[in-house]
Amino acid sequence: MAKGNRPTSPDTRLVSAGRRKEWTGPVVNPPVWRASTHLYDNMAEHRDGPRHNEDGRFFYGRRGAPTQWALAEALTEIEPGAAGTMLYPSGVAAIAGALLTVLRPGDVLLMTDNAYDPSRAMGKGLLRDFGVETRFFDPLDVAGFEATICGQSRAVLLESPGSLTMEVQDVPALAEIARRHGLVSLIDNTWASPLGLPALERGVDISIMSLTKHVGGHSDLMMGSVSAGEELYARLRKRAQSLGQVVSPDDAALALRGLRTLGVRLERETASALEVAGWLADRPEVALVMCPMLPGSPGHDLWQRDFTGGCGLFSFVLKGGDAARRDRFIDALELFGIGYSWGGFESLAIPVDPAPIRSVAAWPPAGLDGTDRFGIRLSIGLEDPADLIADLENAFAAMDPK
Ligand SMILES: *Cc1c(COP(=O)(O)O)cnc(C)c1O
Repeated sequence: MAKGNRPTSPDTRLVSAGRRKEWTGPVVNPPVWRASTHLYDNMAEHRDGPRHNEDGRFFYGRRGAPTQWALAEALTEIEPGAAGTMLYPSGVAAIAGALLTVLRPGDVLLMTDNAYDPSRAMGKGLLRDFGVETRFFDPLDVAGFEATICGQSRAVLLESPGSLTMEVQDVPALAEIARRHGLVSLIDNTWASPLGLPALERGVDISIMSLTKHVGGHSDLMMGSVSAGEELYARLRKRAQSLGQVVSPDDAALALRGLRTLGVRLERETASALEVAGWLADRPEVALVMCPMLPGSPGHDLWQRDFTGGCGLFSFVLKGGDAARRDRFIDALELFGIGYSWGGFESLAIPVDPAPIRSVAAWPPAGLDGTDRFGIRLSIGLEDPADLIADLENAFAAMDPK
């Protein structure tokens, strides 16, 4: 813990966050507290227990113990403006936990059209079943978003950049419009984390992350988090408790370990992604590179204005309309695994085909020949970028065999 109230930079906070002496004892990291039952000293203390439903107080395993508390507190410390953070067993559970906190039957949820597919499915399934209607809006159309707001609109879910197609939204403008109309604004901030986009400082009410990705960082755990200011945090906490949400102390310890190196991993990934994306932009086989950190890439100006960092996740579109070529390309990659998730130390590639799931925002985007629609998403890991580029070069050769 930082002594006193000296302001510290995000990198310094990553090291000190959540390391309360009463949780760590004489060692550096909080031990793994595996516990369902918490024992009370006597009847008087037992009677007192339920009356003190506070963070950092022993009660019963479902409310966590110091390992989970340390992780939640650390995440709060790195999200400026947050009063607290709830942990969930996955990123999807975090999104559901947040939406079920702010929505009631009869409400309308506005959702950005580039949202993560399970978020979209939640709108059309779970939320619809509970009497909430979801309407999608073009992620880049700020005026269109305001025009979509109606009397029943209660909340808006943003995602920037979109995790497949990388549209950068005007987050401050959308959050301001939401506030003016009395809507709660939520953002899926998995791509940037608070290190790259301090979402609450940019005006958003609720910041959601899949910790499975960068915070875990080693492809060995599933978890999600939701951070918010005081009033919304109290509501999130109550709803998460009533849904019985809890994460394991072993996973919390792994996530804490990942968090300590988040800053250096993101920096390295960003630098490597820029190198790879710049190289791809010059390839004759590539129609478009969608990498917000890359000058000239869609969304770069907004990214530069609003973000304080990037990450290794970006997409590109191949020229031409032949799906088999893309399959050959991905199959030829040796250093990139084919798999979901991202943000681990190892590089991954998956195909991107958003056209069938879009409601309002067109795909392929304006400016592309209608046949250029086969995308590939890369998650750049910690390998040497020169090796990754050589692997991609080999895959281009395999894609169009002589
Ligand atoms: C992976 C992901 C999620 C869901 O996280 P899980 O931990 O896999 O449930 C949510 N949002 C985005 C943008 C993601 O990439």
